This record gives sequence, C-alpha cells and structure tokens, in this order.
Amino acid sequence: DAVVYWMRMEDLRVSDNRALARASGQAQKDGVPLLVIFIISPQDHIAHDRSARRIDFTLRNLSSIKASLAPLNIPLYTKIHTQRRTLPALVISLLTHWRATHLFANIEYEVDELRRDIRVCELAKENGIGVEFFHDRCLVEPGKVLTKEGKPYTIYSPFQRNWLSQINSNLSWLDEAPPPSPNPKSVHEDPAFKILFEAPIPDVVEGFECMDREEMKEMWPAGTDSAKQVLIRFLHTKSRSSQLGAVNPLSPGAETSDKKSRAASYKDMRDRGDRDTTSRLSPYLAAGVISARECVRQSMKLLGVTKIQATRDTGVGMWVMEIAWRDFYTHVMAAFPRVSMGRPFQEKFAVVKWETNEEHLQSWKEGRTGVPIVDAAMRQGNKMGWIHNRMRMAAAMYLTKDLMIDWRLGEKYFMEILIDGDLASNNGGWQWSASTGTDPQPYFRIFNPYKQSEKADPTGDYIRYFVPELTKLRGPDIHNPSASAAAKLGYPKPLVNHDEARKRALRRYKTPGDE
Ligand code: FAD
Repeated sequence: DAVVYWMRMEDLRVSDNRALARASGQAQKDGVPLLVIFIISPQDHIAHDRSARRIDFTLRNLSSIKASLAPLNIPLYTKIHTQRRTLPALVISLLTHWRATHLFANIEYEVDELRRDIRVCELAKENGIGVEFFHDRCLVEPGKVLTKEGKPYTIYSPFQRNWLSQINSNLSWLDEAPPPSPNPKSVHEDPAFKILFEAPIPDVVEGFECMDREEMKEMWPAGTDSAKQVLIRFLHTKSRSSQLGAVNPLSPGAETSDKKSRAASYKDMRDRGDRDTTSRLSPYLAAGVISARECVRQSMKLLGVTKIQATRDTGVGMWVMEIAWRDFYTHVMAAFPRVSMGRPFQEKFAVVKWETNEEHLQSWKEGRTGVPIVDAAMRQGNKMGWIHNRMRMAAAMYLTKDLMIDWRLGEKYFMEILIDGDLASNNGGWQWSASTGTDPQPYFRIFNPYKQSEKADPTGDYIRYFVPELTKLRGPDIHNPSASAAAKLGYPKPLVNHDEARKRALRRYKTPGDE
C-alpha cells in the first residue's frame, strides 16, 4: 500500500507545499510509504508553448528535489508520457500497481489541466482511490475574492484591497505547510518501490532540447535554496547596474554604490530597466520553487510587521502588490477560462483587424525593429529567458499597436523563450498591452516607445547592454538614433513610423471589424 503525491509544473518544492504535507500526514496515519510522482507530458508543453528553458529548469529542479527527498527515503519517480489524453489512465494504473489508497495534488487552474483532473477523479473513484486537491499557487485561493454581488473582480485595485483585507483577517493562510516525514528505511526493500528510487530524472525531453542550458544554469540556478538566496538578494542587498545580465546570487560582488537595498529602492526604481532592482524571482515563483507565502512572510519579517503591508508607502509594500497581480491574473484565468483558450477577455475586440507581416514579426522576435528599447527588450528575452516588466510592456505594446500584429503571436513567442513563462501572467500582460483584457491599458493610450525608453532607461545603459551596435551612442540619441548614425552603426531603420502606426491602431480599435 502507499500514498501518492503527484507533483506538477507549478509546485516544484519540498518545503511549504500543502499537498505534499497532507500526503505525508496521510501516509504517517496509515503507516504506509509516501511516493512522489511527476509526469512529463510533452503534448501539454506543446499546447502551452512552453519553452525548452522552462522544461530544462523543471528537470533541474526535479533533480534537486529528488536529492532532498532521498535522505527521507521518499522516492521521486518521473515518467515521460506522450499521449496527454491517456494521462489520467496512466496515473491510475501506476496507483493501482502500487496499491495506493490516496492521491494528493495541488490544483492547476488552466482549463485543460482542470478537465484532466476531473477525469482523474472519475477513474480514482471507480478504483476506490481517495483523491484530494489543494489550493497552493496563490496567497488567496481563486474564487474567494469576490465583489459584493458575489462576482469575480475584473479590475485589479478593488481586487487587491479585498485580497489584502482577507489575508490580514486570516493570517493563518500564510502559515508554512510542514515538511514531509521520512518513510521507514524498509521502503527500499520492496522491489516495486526500489526501482522508483533508482529511476533517474531525465536530462532532456525530446523536442525540448535547451540550447543554452549552461548559461541558464548559471543565471537561474535550480532548487529552493537558490530561490531563497534570490529572495535574500532582493530583500537585503543593493543593486549594481553591471548585474543587468546576470542574476546568479552566488556570483561575487553584490555590493554597490547604491545606498539602499533592492527592496527599499523598489518603490522608486522598479520601472528602471537600466538598474537591477526587481527581485527576478519570477522563474522560481512560476515553477513554485519557492511559495508566494514564503516571499510574503520574509517581507513581513524584514519590515517587522505582523500584518501584510501591501501599500505604496514602502518598497516592500509595493512589491507585495506585484505578488497580488500574480494572484489576480490566476484568479481571472480560473474565473474566465476563455482567457486560456486564446480568446480576448473583452470579446468586442475579437474582430480587430491585425496585420499579417511575417517579416515584421520576425524582426520583432529577433530585436531588429529599429526601435532601441524594443530591440533591447527582445534581445534580453532571447538571451536571458527573462525580461524586465516595463520592457515586456514596451515590446508587447509595440507589437500590437505599432506593428498591429495579433497579441496571440506575441504571447506565444514569449512563452517559447521565457524561463518564467506562466499562462495566467503572460496572458494577463499581453491582454493588458493589447487593451483586450481585464483592467487593460485603454486602447487610446498608446505607448510612445521613445518616451518610454527615456523614462525606463534614462542612462541608456539597458539599451547599450543588450544592443551592442549602439554602445557608442551617448545622450538622447540612444533612444532614437538618427538615420545616419543608425546606418553607420549597422543598426536597422524603424519598421514603421510611430505616429502613423498610432493613428492606424486608434482607427482599428475604435470600430473593431470595420477596417
Ligand atoms: P518583481 O517586480 O520582483 O515582482 C515580484 C513577483 O510578482 C514576480 O516574480 C511575479 O511573480 C509577480 N509579478 C510582478 N509583476 C507582475 C505582473 N504584472 N503580473 C503578474 N505577476 C507579476 N510574469 C511571469 O511570471 N510570467 C510570464 O510569463 C509573464 N509574462 C508577461 C508578459 C507581459 C506582456 C507582461 C507585460 C508581463 C508579464 N509578466 C509575466 C509579469 C512581469 O513582467 C514579471 O512577473 C516580472 O517582470 C518578473 O520579474 P521580477 O520577478 O523581478 O518581478
């Protein structure tokens, strides 16, 4: 007999993991071993456009988890399963083979995953296996933050106020889930379980070969200990602009000329792409290598407060408001499944006329649009698998409003390159930029990429770092090089004229479907 915890793409950690903690409790109660499984489902990765970087990051984290569970005599068994349709049957067949009595998992809120889990429940019932699912991804579980009319919020600010007051009235929601208890050593003697310990974590999944694995390993080291160091780096150490392209918290020299820690300067500096002031925790949060609860607990500890301070008064408070955005978009996805089905949240924009221009799309992807801030953003994504938030907005707004290319193509490309690719946040960010989403940027407020560049990169260091052709440019030219300077430096001409493109976008959004 056994109890099984099914680990998923977004809960890659041993500590503070609700389903794992409860599975362990059940195994202890029943006096049976706890087994952990992870199913690699390439068809699901394709359906989600997941990047090879994200898959590689998953495998690296699984290796680290396998190593942490080994001293507890808990096996982590990883299996590649190609047919997503038959995945529920596979899980149940494994459970029956091990004579498992219970299955525990944390909920995945994406629509296909919810459907899959319904099937798992049906099959488990037929086979007399108990199943329990847990809310673990968000600070407040989806469905709990509702308007007075009992409806899900579609605007962030009132959502955030309600979210905050609920957490502060239910501080136990932030409690850390206990670590799993060890299995008895005898588990190794059972041949059915012994092979689970011996099965290695694959190095690579076919079709998802990560071409820059070594660079990714250096920039985004796996494991909860690394994630905790990235959190400490944000909360306690100061930023250096020379760290723009490096995140490895283990790299020497985190000191700086800055007077304040990253967290303290977050309030004023978070929109600055030329500084390294944000946490860079998104790959770890997206994969659940660290829990959002742990981030908030540590930020409260830093401020010495017993209630969450998600306000604009402090850097840390502002940061917790960003974590609230993560909850918001997951709640939106859970309440409105159409957003994870490629449909605009605001259905009237389903008929906006998009340009089909393969050459423009390709130039955008490669960071050769001739608009330095957009090119720097795209090259940062291509190089690091991560882009600063402000630059994600600038790149997304440019694709959808200046090039008038369908936001879904941008959404897909981001998923394909990002190591932190997350359906809810990525879709939320894209639909915000394309003005089709919940609480979006109104369609008539179109970013001027050159002005954005002056604000987000006043020193020009960000552009110079990621667009080396422009390294020699100084002063305002860096944001919008003259045609002659660009030609001399081998930098492309802008694909479109911003003012004309802006007028086209306004026309098309004003009366969608007309042109
Ligand atoms: P910090 O500023 O340190 O914020 C802390 C954490 O809060 C982040 O790690 C993240 O988990 C959360 N967060 C911050 N901003 C947002 C936001 N706007 N929406 C949701 N959560 C947020 N974030 C992803 O995690 N995955 C994505 O695939 C993703 N795609 C995006 C696409 C577009 C077009 C846009 C505009 C934004 C996208 N974001 C995405 C949100 C945001 O850009 C990143 O979370 C952030 O840049 C990560 O850097 P950080 O960890 O240093 O953030």
